[in-house]
Amino acid sequence: MIEKIVIANRGEIALRVQRACRALGIKTVAVHSTADRDAKYVMLADESVCIGPPPASQSYLNIPAVISAAEVTDAQAIHPGYGFLSENADFAERVEQSGFIFIGPRADSIRLMGDKISAIHAMKKAGVPCVPGSEGALNDDSKRNLKLAADIGYPVLIKAAGGGGGKGMRVVHSEGTLLNAISMTRAEAKAAFNNDVVYMEKYLQNPRHIEFQVLADQHGNAIHLGERDCSLQRRHQKVVEESPAPGITEKLRHKIGERCAEACRKIKYRGLGTFEFLYENGQFYFIEMNTRVQVEHPVTEMVTGVDLVKEQILVAAGQKLRLRQRDIEWRGHAIECRINAEDPASFIPSPGRITTWHPPGGPGVRVDSHVYQNYFVPPYYDSMIGKLIVHGDTREIAMARMRIALSEMIVDGIKTNIPLHKDIMNDAAFERGGVNIHYLEKKLGL
Ligand code: ADP
Repeated sequence: MIEKIVIANRGEIALRVQRACRALGIKTVAVHSTADRDAKYVMLADESVCIGPPPASQSYLNIPAVISAAEVTDAQAIHPGYGFLSENADFAERVEQSGFIFIGPRADSIRLMGDKISAIHAMKKAGVPCVPGSEGALNDDSKRNLKLAADIGYPVLIKAAGGGGGKGMRVVHSEGTLLNAISMTRAEAKAAFNNDVVYMEKYLQNPRHIEFQVLADQHGNAIHLGERDCSLQRRHQKVVEESPAPGITEKLRHKIGERCAEACRKIKYRGLGTFEFLYENGQFYFIEMNTRVQVEHPVTEMVTGVDLVKEQILVAAGQKLRLRQRDIEWRGHAIECRINAEDPASFIPSPGRITTWHPPGGPGVRVDSHVYQNYFVPPYYDSMIGKLIVHGDTREIAMARMRIALSEMIVDGIKTNIPLHKDIMNDAAFERGGVNIHYLEKKLGL
């Protein structure tokens, strides 16, 4: 069994992983930059190691520094959280080569899913529904590319195989601009990701973003934990997430969820994973898999009662899944609001000292945050300072709880997006449920 884990991350997820370790009686090592030296979760950890100056490239992304922190503290495993090194196959490989357990999938699974073309290929083979497309890289044969687009039907999307963070994509509405769009996306992809491979898929005009949570062990077992609706986004960044997704029947949940679980068995996937889909006119279309714990994992925890991070650690340690598919039951509805240190109208980050921190509470309310009164939000990292999650027997009750919780929550000294969340919770279309991925930006007039 694992006795000590290095948490190679910061902020709320570092605290979240620490809590799961405590529940399992595992000791923790917090690695941190000098900017996070005084963070309470660093002090709460059993040990801490400073791994560099504030810029992430010199600390949280510094692979040798993270691995030597595990060496000097005699830890057995490294948890990467999300972001930073969590989907870096080379890191996963080096962790294992150095004799530590990487709490995540094997490096080759990360690589397979990190390249969008190989990911789509593998998923198609495993029976997961994908977006109609070129089924492979585009070459320079103009005639072939024009025919591909005509067969798929305009609008089409040109995407970079190595793309990420919503970058490296271009919508093409008619054949007149297709060839130019392909060469432009190729050039941009080369510059941004050092990989000029591009492919084509049908552009879905008004989809929802619905994703499935899976959990797999190293012994060929895999289950799904249902879906989350993350359609409320701004610039491809999720703002609000919920589970279950409005309007998805139990039958459909099991049908798609089981295909995802089966895909995990086929590719010998291990650990937590998320299959992201676009959902339009009753159809699911796979777009990518995230091979790590997600920011929005708590909504799934709230409706299933499963501690996902705990299970993730146990399967990484080599244990067999304790849960079978029939053990998973979904109860009620959960919603998460990402609380960011930013101006609610301009979205400009608002780092600084928090003078008042009054988190909400009460039945069905969960706050995952590392901040506290007098905490200084550093300017170097992501602006998310916490997550407010509520649960209720029905979606209406969950929404009502979220409204009350937001009204109780007081954060002074910095600006936050709490006013935006209040607005969303009173939005008639959101209240009806099932808005598409463009809804929030349209509402904001963007
Ligand atoms: P990334 O790795 O950059 O996040 P994704 O493949 O997940 O790339 O796509 C990011 C976003 O782009 C999706 O959440 C969706 O909003 C949009 N998108 C991707 N593929 C399509 C498509 N075929 N049709 C319409 N929108 C798409």
